Amino acid sequence: MKIISINAGSSSLKFSLFDMDSETVIASGVFERIGIDGSCYTIKFNGEKFKEEIEMKDHTKAVSILLDKLTSLNIIKSLDEINGVGHRIVQGKDIFNESVLVDDDVMEKLESIKHFAPLHNPANMLGIKAFQEALPNVPMSVVFDTAFHQTMDKETYLYAVPYEWYEKYGIRKYGAHGTSHRYISETVKDLLKTDKFKLISCHIGNGGSITAIKDGKCVDTSMGFTPLAGIMMGTRSGDVDPSILPPVMEAENKTIDEIINDLNKNSGVLGLSGISSDMRDIEAAYEAGNEKAVLTFNKYIQRIVDYIAEYYVRLGGADVIVFTAGVGENSPLLRKLVCDKLKCLGVEIDEEKNNVRGKLTEISTKDSKVKVYIIPTDEELMIARDTLELIK
Ligand code: AMP
Repeated sequence: MKIISINAGSSSLKFSLFDMDSETVIASGVFERIGIDGSCYTIKFNGEKFKEEIEMKDHTKAVSILLDKLTSLNIIKSLDEINGVGHRIVQGKDIFNESVLVDDDVMEKLESIKHFAPLHNPANMLGIKAFQEALPNVPMSVVFDTAFHQTMDKETYLYAVPYEWYEKYGIRKYGAHGTSHRYISETVKDLLKTDKFKLISCHIGNGGSITAIKDGKCVDTSMGFTPLAGIMMGTRSGDVDPSILPPVMEAENKTIDEIINDLNKNSGVLGLSGISSDMRDIEAAYEAGNEKAVLTFNKYIQRIVDYIAEYYVRLGGADVIVFTAGVGENSPLLRKLVCDKLKCLGVEIDEEKNNVRGKLTEISTKDSKVKVYIIPTDEELMIARDTLELIK
């Protein structure tokens, strides 16, 4: 069985082709600058990289080039080998609490909620439509970043704002990174060989979110109505007091959209440090004693620790803490500084075991009251697994 996982953005399309018997990636790649000058693709297959600049006026063209390359590069013999296509969708609201097969009804529902993620959902839908044209007989699924968080209870997902905002406008916490947190939860279930566990899953990448999970179900998550809320991120502020907006708008003569853009793109690690949004740069400057980098890194750690502590209490303790995504998987320093601050909860890590990057590892000591793992996340595989499950 072969399944393609698709992550379509407004001008890009990422894909991974999986052999689902072995759950391995046969080929993967990205199509970039779709609809913009200088469009190009990169495809990785058999240890080789195929790159070409080629005109792609829209997603339909990108998909047609992708399918053409899959056969012309001998990645597959014929398009008949593709058994299913899974699409990542950023926002499913409270309409979708699990992955589903695409049909007319699903497309209508997606259309009706697309304004809740205007930068992402319409782009995700372009990917679906392009594949519907190219492979009309191949089953397709949609997998939502928000679906895993639909088990939050009402007192958790509501904001303390006028109730009508929720009723009339759907204002509530939806969360994000749900596919990643679900992958972590399923992996922990396999590792512990039980589905009864309290888990705090820390997805710390350029975007970042922390999720409290009990027995495989989301109890709470740090992102909110959009991915802007929660911990401090590469370029996003995380939680701030919204009263900061009017004085800055007035002083800088900016619109609300421009200020929200600043909170999404010019804040977080980048904004506070003035150095970079990339944790590698911040760590290097931190170790060299750069004052702004020290402040930024300390604040970054503090926000993560705050959420872990909150969720530890919410869950009534924790059996496992997991670090995943770019920073979580690759930064021994971040994991050490976070875990040092969690010593009061009985968290203890082994520095030697912690000195690893991007590899599934248990880094806690034998005596630690909470197991601590690094688990590389795999959202693409999760999308492919869901698709396979649905087409079966
Ligand atoms: P992601 O969004 O999960 O792809 O994570 C991307 C981020 O991971 C980058 O922006 C870096 O900040 C971070 N990252 C990647 N490699 C390392 C590393 N070796 N040490 C620290 N941070 C890293």
